[in-house]
Amino acid sequence: MFDTHCHLNSYLNSSTRFPNSLNSYLNVSTNVDDWSNTIKFSRKHANVLPAIGIHPWFVTESFVSDLVVLERLLQSNNIASIGEVGLDFNESYKHTRENQIECFQKQLNLAESNQLALSVHCVKAHNEMLLLLKSKHAFGVIHGLGTSIEIAKQYIDLGFKFGVNGVAVRENANRYHALIKYFGLEHIVLETDYPNIKLPGLVSSSLADINTIAECVAKLLSIPIEDVIQQTDYNAQKIFKRNAL
Ligand SMILES: [Zn+2]
Repeated sequence: MFDTHCHLNSYLNSSTRFPNSLNSYLNVSTNVDDWSNTIKFSRKHANVLPAIGIHPWFVTESFVSDLVVLERLLQSNNIASIGEVGLDFNESYKHTRENQIECFQKQLNLAESNQLALSVHCVKAHNEMLLLLKSKHAFGVIHGLGTSIEIAKQYIDLGFKFGVNGVAVRENANRYHALIKYFGLEHIVLETDYPNIKLPGLVSSSLADINTIAECVAKLLSIPIEDVIQQTDYNAQKIFKRNAL
């Protein structure tokens, strides 16, 4: 299975051992302090692909100089994706709106010039996001997408997949269920967003939650879980491991 969006750097400062698993992981980062650890982690674990980027919550006044570092790292390392990047116009982050747009735009340029996939976070900013993505040869995953079918269609028309995570496991996640049923396996990838999302009824999150997420998709689509695993894995490999295919 391919976990297309997780934050694994938390393993560096904890006593919990990274599981010995056959799964692949895209380890996304959020800010300049994260990147060297993300790259180091992938050197230790061949099944962990590094994604580096500035998350909209971490766009500070110094984002321009951070992006110089990002560009340098892209040149000297085998990076799989620009992520986690995007726009978040929620109340708490709206005040950085202009900087967020500029920062995302610049990362979009880097993704295009390096032919890298994006792992995108987008909250309350779909119009702006779609406009920006349409202006470039962008591809990748909209992580945790839970929008209307109309908005999702526009991302899919651009060639993006959407990441299904533990939120879809909630019984009342009607929007997510509708999206999964409408678009089907072809447009989906799986993600845990570890350690940020807890499955209903559980007190902590785990990378093994991906099994429950796959099971949930299988149930919604009334198909065997093996089909979900196979197709979502294929979708993710095509995006993040293009050179290996
Ligand atoms: Zn995340």
